[in-house]
Amino acid sequence: MGVALRMLAFMVCVMPSTQPGQTSIATWYGCRAGALSLSFDDNSWDRPLEASILEEYGFRGTFGVVVGKMPSGYVEKIQSLFLAGHEIASHSWSHIDLTNASETVIHTEVVESKAAIEALTGAPCVTYIYAYGYWRNGVRDAVTDHYICARGAWQWQADNPLGAPVNSATGGDIYNLTINPFPEASGEPWADEVFLECLHDYVDHVLASNAWGIEMLHNLGQTNTTTTIREDVLRRHFEELAAMSDRALWVAPIGTVAKYYLERHQTQVEQAVTKPNFTVLRLTVGLDPNIYDVPLTLQTDVPIEWNGGTIAVEQDGMPLQYEMQIQPTSARLVYDVSPVSSYILVYYEPLVGHPE
Ligand SMILES: [Zn+2]
Repeated sequence: MGVALRMLAFMVCVMPSTQPGQTSIATWYGCRAGALSLSFDDNSWDRPLEASILEEYGFRGTFGVVVGKMPSGYVEKIQSLFLAGHEIASHSWSHIDLTNASETVIHTEVVESKAAIEALTGAPCVTYIYAYGYWRNGVRDAVTDHYICARGAWQWQADNPLGAPVNSATGGDIYNLTINPFPEASGEPWADEVFLECLHDYVDHVLASNAWGIEMLHNLGQTNTTTTIREDVLRRHFEELAAMSDRALWVAPIGTVAKYYLERHQTQVEQAVTKPNFTVLRLTVGLDPNIYDVPLTLQTDVPIEWNGGTIAVEQDGMPLQYEMQIQPTSARLVYDVSPVSSYILVYYEPLVGHPE
């Protein structure tokens, strides 16, 4: 290599580049390590209380409603939960065992229950919760045709891959989403510490495997069982989740996390143009925007020199909020975009020195 060429190579290496690098979609919203959904099955009268406890900690839950068994006055409760940001999922029409059910019965349980919920909320009902966790034969087919995801009652087991929560490495079965395990020892009811430790271990596993966990809850009660939980125990659990939810854990309803998960898989981010000081990204989303409305978190690597200049991030000309994460030798812009096909501009204007 000639001296001149070597000099050029040297200069290319040491000259600070102002060109942005790769952009990717974060595995979970807000670049969090894992996601957790809190779901409540059946038609408990305590729903407004449970919803208010969730809201105290900044959470929104999924309430699985048995449409054909709502007592009078329940419709108004469900509507107010929906307006507060909670998800209303279908937990079937009548909660019957569908083992040998006809197609007509399955249609009522799965399809008509969805239509009834949509009439109550005026929004798409995207999540189905199988009664008794039963999902085989025609039930699952009907659910797949009409919902974006479904939760069963299969408990997570560390040594059984079928029970694994959806995770970033291996994916998972979005039409038979699994739930938290319950303590094995000594049977119900469980001592507070035993129950809390079991939930804690599950959330630990979710975070360690970049996964999406789902807790199956039913009602508040005087003891801890598969269908009841003491209010003080629920609060202690939520306190722990809230402490993790700022950076590590994304707590959101089942349908919200499912939308994000599917959007992430159905969205392509290409660099249309990349030059010093800016990049234009083309976002191509292959999903119905009437259903898929959860913002996607993008992360764009940028040179450390960008820290200190003026930065703008725009989606189709509209300015977006961003956060800059600084590492010792690199920086990353993190921002949320609407999941619609569009152009994203990431732009940097160097600081202009003061005139001497
Ligand atoms: Zn149930």
